[in-house]
Amino acid sequence: MQNLKKVFGDHEVLTDINLTVNAGEIVSIIGRSGSGKSTLLRNINLLEQPTSGDILFHGNSVLAPDFDITHYRAKAGMVFQSFNLFNNLTVLENVVTPQVTVLKRDPAEAKQHALELLNTVNMDPFINAKPDQLSGGQKQRVAIARAEAMDPEVLLFDEPTSALDPEMVDDVLAAMSNLAHTGLTMIIVTHEMAFARDISDRVVFMNDGVIAEEGTPEQIFNAPHEEVTQAFLKRYL
Ligand code: ADP
Ligand code: MG
Repeated sequence: MQNLKKVFGDHEVLTDINLTVNAGEIVSIIGRSGSGKSTLLRNINLLEQPTSGDILFHGNSVLAPDFDITHYRAKAGMVFQSFNLFNNLTVLENVVTPQVTVLKRDPAEAKQHALELLNTVNMDPFINAKPDQLSGGQKQRVAIARAEAMDPEVLLFDEPTSALDPEMVDDVLAAMSNLAHTGLTMIIVTHEMAFARDISDRVVFMNDGVIAEEGTPEQIFNAPHEEVTQAFLKRYL
C-alpha cells in the first residue's frame, strides 16, 4: 500500500497508509474500534475503492484499468467476522461452488479439494449441513476452508473470532495457526492479543486512520514506543 487514502463524505478514514507485506509474512493489525482496520482490509481486497494512493500486488497496481480483479480477489481472500457463508447451500457446496464458478475448476476436482480442506478444519462430519445448523465457530471454520479452496496467496481476516462465543474461539485460532504454518501470507485484524503476539511476524497498530506504530510482536507488546500504543495496550494487560 502506497500513500493509501480513503474518504467517506468528508470523513478521512485512512490517511497516507504505507505498508508492505512480504510473501509468507503474518501481519496482525490492532487498534481501537473505528480506527480504520476493516476499511483498510476492504480496500486491499477492493471491496472499497481507494480514494487515492495505490495498492501493488506482485508490483502491479490493482487499480490499473486492465487489472484482473476477479483473479486478484481469489488470490487475496477475505474471512469476515460475520462468516458470509451462502445460507442456502450446504457446507460442502459453500466450499465447492466458488472454485467452480470463479476458478472454473472441474466439479469433481473441486469436491475432492473441498473435502480435504474441510477435513483439516475438522468440519468433515458436517458437509451436508446448512450454515444455520452450525455454531459460529463451525461456520467460521467453513469460511476458512472456503477461502483456502481458492488457492489464495494472501488471506485477510477481519476479526474472525469477535462474533464467537468464548468456547468457540480456540478452534478457529487453531485453524488459523495451522494455516500460518503452511507459508500462506496472512493479514489479521484481531483483538486477540495473545494470539497476535504468538502468530505474527509483525504487528501494526492503527490509530485514527494512520499506522501509528509497527514492529515485531516483542517490540509492540513489551516496549511500545508511542503513547497511543501504550494507552491502547494497557486495556489488555
Ligand atoms: P474498525 O474496523 O477499525 O473498527 P472501520 O474501518 O470499520 O474501523 O471504520 C473506520 C471509520 O470509517 C468509522 O468512523 C466508520 O464509521 C467509518 N466508515 C466505515 N465504513 C464506512 C462507510 N461505508 N461509509 C461511511 N463511513 C464508513
Ligand atoms: Mg472493523
